[in-house]
Amino acid sequence: MLNKPALYLPAKVAHPPTVNEFGSKIEISGYQGVKDAKGNVALRSFKDVYGMNLTLEQGWMGQTLFQDRGGPYVDQATYTDRGTTEVEVGSDYDSVTRAGTVYHELTHVLLGDFGRSASKGVHGAPGVDDATDAAQQEAEKNAKEH
Ligand SMILES: [Zn+2]
Repeated sequence: MLNKPALYLPAKVAHPPTVNEFGSKIEISGYQGVKDAKGNVALRSFKDVYGMNLTLEQGWMGQTLFQDRGGPYVDQATYTDRGTTEVEVGSDYDSVTRAGTVYHELTHVLLGDFGRSASKGVHGAPGVDDATDAAQQEAEKNAKEH
């Protein structure tokens, strides 16, 4: 069983997301939903799953970490250990790319309803790939024009 830190905000309330920019070497802690042999999904830390925390390296432009609302958890979805839903954006990219990444990730937040419906906000769920692509392209187009 995962030994989670106490949340500093009530888990049942949807908090506004935070948007953070991180350099490619910065370690981001958090959790991932992992399905066991019986089909139950539990949270495991990135360090437990991957042997390291998340970093936005190797072309990884951003990541959404949903608020941990106490489950049910979604296989492969990522969750924050800091209370509020987080949008992490790699800072090693130009402003157009970063604008696109922010809107791509915020689309995950909206579709997943801040973690209340994370299953509807992850890649592979119906409409998510198209919606995140469209948001990213629109934001990049707007960023180029202004
Ligand atoms: Zn995405």
